[in-house]
Amino acid sequence: MMLRSSGRSRRLNSDAPAAANSTPDAEPLFDADLLGRYDRRGPRYTSYPTALQFHDGFTGRDYRDCVADTNADPIPAPLSLYVHIPFCAKACLYCACTRVITRNRAHAAEYLERLVVEIARQAELFDTDRVVEQLHLGGGTPTFLSMEQMDHLMESIRQHFTLTPDGEGEYSIEVDPRTVSGEAVRRLRQFGFNRLSLGVQDFDPAVQAAVNRVQSEQETLEIISAARENRFRSVSIDLIYGLPRQTTAGFMQTLDRVLAAQPDRVSMYNYAHLPRQFKLQRLIREEDLPGASEKLRILQSSIERLTGAGYRYIGMDHFAKADDDLSRAQLEGTLSRNFQGYSTHGDCDLIGLGMSSISAAGACYSQNAKDLDSYLALVDAGGLATVRGVRLSEDDLIRRRIIRDLICHFTLDYGGFENSLQVDFWRYFAQERELLRGMEADGLVEIDAAGIRVTMRGRLLVRNICMVFDRYLREAPGHGRYSRAI
Ligand code: SF4
Repeated sequence: MMLRSSGRSRRLNSDAPAAANSTPDAEPLFDADLLGRYDRRGPRYTSYPTALQFHDGFTGRDYRDCVADTNADPIPAPLSLYVHIPFCAKACLYCACTRVITRNRAHAAEYLERLVVEIARQAELFDTDRVVEQLHLGGGTPTFLSMEQMDHLMESIRQHFTLTPDGEGEYSIEVDPRTVSGEAVRRLRQFGFNRLSLGVQDFDPAVQAAVNRVQSEQETLEIISAARENRFRSVSIDLIYGLPRQTTAGFMQTLDRVLAAQPDRVSMYNYAHLPRQFKLQRLIREEDLPGASEKLRILQSSIERLTGAGYRYIGMDHFAKADDDLSRAQLEGTLSRNFQGYSTHGDCDLIGLGMSSISAAGACYSQNAKDLDSYLALVDAGGLATVRGVRLSEDDLIRRRIIRDLICHFTLDYGGFENSLQVDFWRYFAQERELLRGMEADGLVEIDAAGIRVTMRGRLLVRNICMVFDRYLREAPGHGRYSRAI
């Protein structure tokens, strides 16, 4: 079967938004037996195809060509910037991020020097009338940079890109409460950031000791207060369940203290214990990890507590207040997903800056060198820092949109796809239809003549439903590389 070539692949990225699913404030139904049965490893779908499909045959030249295609779109997409600051002063044992553990601040200076060069080189590729609507500084620990360095970084970004006004753009930074003061939060707001995200994970001292991340509740609450005083539009808190020495009772205490501070968003990540991939995780004693049923209890109690406190279940691991932009985007059908998780600016082309960062421009993903020395050397050599990536086929673009609609909106209408497919949706996806039968029988999805709906029973397993449409996973599973769904 042939796919109809659209000429402009972007149209498959940014077709009309999916209609939001019904019952927005209901909580997903929790069925421990069902979750246990479907608890398998799989991608988190921050991209499709996932990074496993990136290859080193994709070069900086390919990336430039893809960006040129996006500039030629009738209405080029706005831009989103992701800047990776890889340094951390201490290593948290659970961490799976690409980071450099060091206390030597000189590393930050030499890195920043190359980063501003890369910013200028990347900016040259994009038409100057394409504005930046979203910026995110992640890491590592972005606040490893001094405030002077942060000022310099933001100045460089403004020099080379046009940022939309504060009231319209989303400018966020990950903050480690152990490394910043209230005064630093004030400066960050002055530099233009309007959203703050804080890593907490768990306030329980036993858990903190077991993961080598000791962070007092007091220092976290002070940063939240400083963010409010300085009129940050949104504060989000990251928690992790499944950490060593965690119990349901202890985690509920953490959650209650977090909710008392009224963050706008709460992310509750499932700890992925992959010691073969992440060396430091080998220092975590397996016997300290909560068992599968305890993890399920933590998850169930947390969902009840969060939805009971008025937070909307966005999907996967995210919760947001009803008036937060993330909730609004889901209701309006404009929610998207990128490497930072759920996003309100899904129609943007994403420019990744810094070591290991990934760009998603038009029909490609392009990744920078993953280690510090290679990144510095590539920038010094005068080109881009691209080392691998992938160009998406028409089939990839269709499957990416299907996965996005399911994971963001819990719904998929065939109508928008049949033009591109040139055939009946289920003729093209005959194999997937068979795979969905079991899920339909288990009540995870409802399938009718108009589309697929993920039920309340299926919401916690939406990753598994997306996996059905992942051609690469089916052809070469590689499950060991992924975390478990629950
Ligand atoms: S501060 Fe964040 S990036 Fe750094 S080691 Fe800890 S979890 Fe990883």
